[in-house]
Order: sequence, then structure tokens, then C-alpha cells
Amino acid sequence: MRSLIQTNAFIDGHWIPTDKRFAVTNPATGETLAEVADGDAAMAERAVEAAHKALGHWREKTPKQRADLLRRWYQSMLDNKQALGELMSAEQGKPIAEAIGEIEYGASFVDWFAGEAERCYGDILPVASQDKRSWIIKQPVGVCAAITPWNFPNAMITRKVAPALAAGCTIVIKPPQLTPLSALALAQLASEVGIPDGVINFVPSTQAKDVGEVFTQHPQVKKFTFTGSTSVGKALMEQCSQTMKKVSLELGGNAPFIVFDDADIDLAARELIACKFRNAGQTCISANRVLVQESVHDAFIDKLKQALGKLKVAAGDAEEVDYGPLINGDAITKVKELLDDAEQQGATILAGGNVLDALGELFFAPTLITGVKPSMRIAQEEIFGPVVAVQTFTDEAQGVSRANDTPFGLAGYFCAQDYTRIQRVSEQLECGMLGINAGAISHAYNAFGGVKESGIGREGSRYGLAEYQETKNITLGGF
Ligand code: ADP
Repeated sequence: MRSLIQTNAFIDGHWIPTDKRFAVTNPATGETLAEVADGDAAMAERAVEAAHKALGHWREKTPKQRADLLRRWYQSMLDNKQALGELMSAEQGKPIAEAIGEIEYGASFVDWFAGEAERCYGDILPVASQDKRSWIIKQPVGVCAAITPWNFPNAMITRKVAPALAAGCTIVIKPPQLTPLSALALAQLASEVGIPDGVINFVPSTQAKDVGEVFTQHPQVKKFTFTGSTSVGKALMEQCSQTMKKVSLELGGNAPFIVFDDADIDLAARELIACKFRNAGQTCISANRVLVQESVHDAFIDKLKQALGKLKVAAGDAEEVDYGPLINGDAITKVKELLDDAEQQGATILAGGNVLDALGELFFAPTLITGVKPSMRIAQEEIFGPVVAVQTFTDEAQGVSRANDTPFGLAGYFCAQDYTRIQRVSEQLECGMLGINAGAISHAYNAFGGVKESGIGREGSRYGLAEYQETKNITLGGF
């Protein structure tokens, strides 16, 4: 299999080295995988200028020409999914099968937005007066800048880059310091299939703040898109206000997973496990607060205990693994702190709660904790680890109000059978995405994004394209 390891920045179609480099390590073993170029503010400016230079030609291509190139990039990702998946598993830790699943998922955004590029319509407006006609055209926003996180090293990039390119924008990206190799491999494939120089540019960096300042303040950047923590997102949005950039922000969540008394308990347990243990719980739409109606609590906990006992934890390249290591020591510390705090305040750890030392210091056991109270840190902060934290509630109204009692509103989930309850609760929950009897809700066709402090804008679906377009209203007179 050919190597897709690239270790330099990618600007204007060229691989640019730097003297200063940073190490990328395998979280399962601690082994160094590569030394990657450490871009600075000057390099970020160079990337923006390259994207600006490329914009004119890219925007003037027909939607079909852009779609054809996107489809070639999509196909190339699929053709190389094994190599891309292995690379991702090595730098991020997720099992290879899950990593290949992410490559397919990430590629699906490129395919979907290739289609959307060709369905980018304007509007003919009603005639307001007989001597005039008005219509709307959609135009690319211009140069876009993106900052992405480590938990989905491929898909968090493609779902920003694909709609940007489909709309006729060019883009600069700062991939995460922990997983730049998956990003740079995408640049290699984009270049090989003929996406023109300067249309996609990558600046790997440990100097996130400096690069972020260029991306959010450079006058040639017209749109800034970010996936990461709420605190960083807020600061970046503020920086964008000086030049009034369009922003899309996909920030933290605190997803409730509610199990009502009429739920199919087997289905609820299965969906919760799928939702919770994907990527070892390190996803922003992971079920963070499991809210179980008192009358079904004990039966549900029994199902969960059985299911947790069957999970296999191992390095990502082992056979039939459910999840691998957490990303780094900070992640382990955070999970331990949240569990300690909850235990000290009366919660009970029924399973797990410990590091699996025999595997290595970043492997955490599948954990079940009950008796969690809304005031505990574990109920208020993102756990980002393989921990099912269960609270109880008495009736539907209390379940919904507990679920909504958070500044966040990314994903929410509930399990129920009664169709009037399903209708009621789906209208009452404050979240951007809702899974009903379903713990896996992400798809390129779906609109991903949050309400409240979980962000602004949507990724995927036809709404995802609109984030990269300006709406121009034109009125023609003199009839
Ligand atoms: P996470 O906990 O997922 O790492 P962060 O918000 O810290 O969330 O990081 C998400 C992305 O934001 C990463 O690419 C990181 O390098 C970048 N980042 C972190 N802090 C800043 C900052 N002050 N300015 C710009 N980018 C930042």
C-alpha cells in the first residue's frame, strides 16, 4: 500500500517545509509517527493570499466542472480508504474499522456537495411593480478559513471544505495539532485529482492562537468556520466581528439521552451503547447525561451492565475492537476528575471507573455510574470519555426540563413508543439535532449543528451549502 504521509504545509499546490517541527504520536503506544511542519502567522497569511489568488478562476468554473473535481476527490478517498483509515487510527486511536467508517462518512460529504453544486438555484421574485423585475442569485462568499478538531480528523474537514468548494469558495485550514496527518493526506489526494493550486490550503501548527488571529482578522477572509470547544469558539467569533465575517461554529454539547417508561428497553440500551462508545465517547454529540424514568431504571441498568461487559477495548489495530485509547493524558485526567467529584457527592460506580493499565495509560474501562445529580460536574461538563452517567426523573415534564437545563443544545436523544409523547417531546427539547429511538444520527443528508451555546450554522444537507453562499437581490427597472 502506498504511503499517504505528508509532513509539510500545503499552500498554493506546494508542500512547504519549516525549520520548526512538531511530533505527532500514536496514543496507543506513545510512538512518534512523524515530525510535521509548524506553521506560524506569516505562513497563515501566505495561505490566505494563495486562496485569494485562486478564487477568481475557481469561482468562474461552472458548477459541473467543480462537481466533477469534487467527485474525483471523493472517489480517490474511497480508493485509498484502507491507507487513510490506518493513518487515522494510528494518530487518533480509534479502531481501524471505525476509522475507515469515518473516511466513508467524510467522503460522503464530498459526494453530496458535488451534487449540491449542480443544484445551486436562485429565485425569481414576485413582480412588485410593472416597470421592474427582481430576482436572487447565489454567489460564493469568497475565501473561507477553517479550524478543526482532532476527534474526527477527516470528516470535520470534508464537511467544511466540500460545501465551500461546491459554492465556488477557496479555503485555508488549520488542522488540529494532534491529527494533522489525516488532513495532509486529503491535500495530497486533492492535488492528485486536479483540484487547482490554491483552492485548498493547509497550515498545520502548534501556534493555534497566532494562526487563528490571521484566519479571523485577515480582510481577505470572508467566512470563518470552526469546530471545537465553546470557549475557543466564543473568542474566535469575537475576533471575526472586526471585519464582520460570516461565521459557522460547531461547539460543545451536553446531550441528554432520555429513556421514558414506554421505551423499548432493549432498543434503548443498544442505541445508547452505539451513541456513547463511538470514538470512546470523544464526540460532541455523545450522550452525556442519561436520564432514565424511575419506573424503568433498574431494568435499564441491568441491560446496560450486560452490554458494557461485552465491550472490547484494545489498540485500534487489534481485531474487533469497540474502542481504543483516549487521545491524551489530559483526557484521562478529566474523566477521572469528573468521576471522583460525582462519587464524592454520592454517585455510585457500578462498572469500570479505572484505567486499563495492562493495555496502557490512555485506555479507560467502560464505565457506568448511577445516582448522578444535575448539579454534579459530570452532568454539566462534556465527559468526552467512555462513561455512561445515569440520572433519574419522575415524569415526562421533569425529564424534559432536566434535559433542557443546560446552556448547550447540540444533540438530544430520547426513547419512547407513545406517538403523542414522541411528538410533544420532540417539539420541547432544545437542541439542533434529535435522535428518537436512534443513537446514530449523523449523515451527509442531515443538517448538523446546534442551538444555544452549541453554535451557529449547519453542516451537511442543503443548508450546509447555504453557509458558503451570499444571497444577492437584483432589481431591473426601465420596463
Ligand atoms: P478540543 O478540546 O476539541 O481540542 P479546542 O477548541 O481546544 O477543542 O480545539 C479545536 C481546534 O481549535 C484545534 O484545531 C485547536 O488547535 C484550535 N484552537 C485552540 N485554541 C485556539 C485559539 N485560541 N485560537 C485558534 N484556534 C484554537
